[in-house]
Amino acid sequence: MKIIIIGAGIGGLAAAISLHEAGLRDVTVYERSAAIRGLGVGINLLPHALRELTELGVADAIAELGVEPRTLAYYNRFGQPIWSEPRGRDAGYRWPQLSVHRGRLQLALRDLAEARLAEPIRLGHRLTGVTTNVDGTETARFATDAGPIEATADVIIGADGIHSAMRALRYPAEGAPPWSGLTLWRGVTRIPTFLDRRTMIMAGDGEQKFVAYPLAPADADGRMPVNFIAERRVGGTGEADWNRAVDPGPIAEMFDEWRFDWLDVPAAIAAADEILEYPMVDRDALPQWTFGRTTLLGDAAHAMYPNGSNGGSQAIIDARTLAFHLATSESIDAGLAAYEQARRPAMTALLAGTRATGPERVMQLARERAPQGFADIDEVIPYAERVQIAADYKTAAGFLPEVLNERPSLTPPSAVAR
Ligand SMILES: Cc1cc2nc3c(=O)[nH]c(=O)nc-3n(C[C@H](O)[C@H](O)[C@H](O)COP(=O)(O)OP(=O)(O)OC[C@H]3O[C@@H](n4cnc5c(N)ncnc54)[C@H](O)[C@@H]3O)c2cc1C
Repeated sequence: MKIIIIGAGIGGLAAAISLHEAGLRDVTVYERSAAIRGLGVGINLLPHALRELTELGVADAIAELGVEPRTLAYYNRFGQPIWSEPRGRDAGYRWPQLSVHRGRLQLALRDLAEARLAEPIRLGHRLTGVTTNVDGTETARFATDAGPIEATADVIIGADGIHSAMRALRYPAEGAPPWSGLTLWRGVTRIPTFLDRRTMIMAGDGEQKFVAYPLAPADADGRMPVNFIAERRVGGTGEADWNRAVDPGPIAEMFDEWRFDWLDVPAAIAAADEILEYPMVDRDALPQWTFGRTTLLGDAAHAMYPNGSNGGSQAIIDARTLAFHLATSESIDAGLAAYEQARRPAMTALLAGTRATGPERVMQLARERAPQGFADIDEVIPYAERVQIAADYKTAAGFLPEVLNERPSLTPPSAVAR
């Protein structure tokens, strides 16, 4: 089975490795960029993604790039604690959570893919069209510096991100990703350690928020690299460009009063080398991913808000699920149908849950019920309600510890035997 993957991002590279491990070896990846430069800032990989990377045999290579957060803690805009929960292995998962620089993750996946694939990644190839042939194969057309080229395969996987060309070919009237009206400023800063050095924090509410997590252990000087996302409802265009750099000064000023006794938010923002501005956009759920023998994967299929830290993780699970079904189904069409059945309804539910603020609902409730802060959080949001909000999101995202720990592996039996 000849397979083409469009896009060498997190999902496309994970798909290439997954297909290879599942015994599908005739795989070529086409990427629009002329070089894979490892762009971005931090990204979280949740235990359900670490399970897949572990079963692919690449988790150790990835784990050394980041740190395992032990706790996720939510605060109001005054730095008062609302909710905290253990994460990763401390929460009972058999696999850790990992905070990692997206660019380093992408480069590591590229190296792992290139070590396995027979064909090099075809850089500088931008998908422009796809045609279904009479024999059921699919032909992709690419724009390159040397002019247009074509490539034909039995399956084409569109893993080309939130601005997916493959998706636009199937849904030409869809237009730009819808914008929530919130703007995100993402950066990496070096600041003194806070809390237990292994806690991911979220402070604020639906109007203004600050998220931060360490990306590496502290140096001898007691400072550590911390990824942050500052978020606020401001004007703007909502145009989604991952690489738009802005001046940290005005962003730090917006958070001027957010000086907690455990974290100085404006100082953290001001110390960033670079801040990237990005609108909080996602994609509507789709009624169909698979057309002929083409399908969608990762952000191309279901780009979601970052508030559940789930975009990269779900792309990796798509990759493993697709490889499993293509390797184990009686036909290509049956494999693609099984993939879509396994993933699309689940991602439709997750997109809806993430739009409804996902696990951050506790912060919104704290703001609505106690806008000036509180003396006792139990009087604002009872403990049982906080527990329920956290559990509801994990159920929707498929990562309740007992469910994930017990679920059958996505490694095909034939690959286990090899
Ligand atoms: C430059 C960049 C920076 C990012 N930074 C962050 C970050 O800091 N934090 C975070 O959480 N998420 C970030 N993301 C998004 C994150 O990687 C995804 O949300 C998630 O990992 C799902 O991955 P994906 O493979 O579906 O999409 P992506 O990782 O976005 O990968 C899509 C790939 O497809 C390629 N592509 C696009 N169009 C075409 C085409 N027509 N033909 C061929 N190739 C094409 C792109 O160049 C890209 O390499 C970033 C994405 C990009 C592209």
